[in-house]
Amino acid sequence: MNMQFQQHNLTESQLSPANAVVDELCAAGEPWVKQLNAGQTFRIIDLEGNQAVDTLFYNAHHAPERYSVNDTIRNQNRLYLTTGSKLYSNFGNVMLTIVADTCGRHDTLGGACAAESNTVRYALDKHSMHSCRDNFLYALTHDPLCEQLGMSKRDLPSNINFFMNVPVTEDGRLDFVDGISAPGKYVELRAQMDVIVLISNCPQLNNPCNAYNPTPIRLLIWD
Ligand SMILES: [Zn+2]
Repeated sequence: MNMQFQQHNLTESQLSPANAVVDELCAAGEPWVKQLNAGQTFRIIDLEGNQAVDTLFYNAHHAPERYSVNDTIRNQNRLYLTTGSKLYSNFGNVMLTIVADTCGRHDTLGGACAAESNTVRYALDKHSMHSCRDNFLYALTHDPLCEQLGMSKRDLPSNINFFMNVPVTEDGRLDFVDGISAPGKYVELRAQMDVIVLISNCPQLNNPCNAYNPTPIRLLIWD
């Protein structure tokens, strides 16, 4: 039996977009960087459905502390993220907690698409296509918040893929398959410490993670 649908925990939020202190769009294929302060709530909305949102978190005062997929999976004995999941740092601290989720499951293992992986997985002439790794590296070396923290190309750990469907099969294979998200689905996180959030709104066109049609996302923050 496939394990992919066993960890849903659908929960809606009571927060109203009218009260948000940040309400922005991130275009398809673009990066987005913002600081979230401890106690603030952050929502990512998959506006048109089936959009992978590659996301990293860093301690806003000490960038060597960042989201750790290893600590997050091991401390909770769960491969997927949904309501109630805590995002742990490589220092063992809880950075954020997922407090609402209308999609039901988010990927921890698939990583970010890259020019190099595109050539290996798809074709040599895919090398010039835009990728999440390009977005992350550009933001790490050009965004003022990342520059303030002294970050560089070295500061690129494994990311979360919100809304992305990467089931692990019974024989241990990872499949990149069509999404379980849909227009308007969202995930909401409460920050437990001051964090920098770094998003690549995935531009991938070679597999079904964006339904072959990358689309915009909406980002909201509440105090
Ligand atoms: Zn990507």
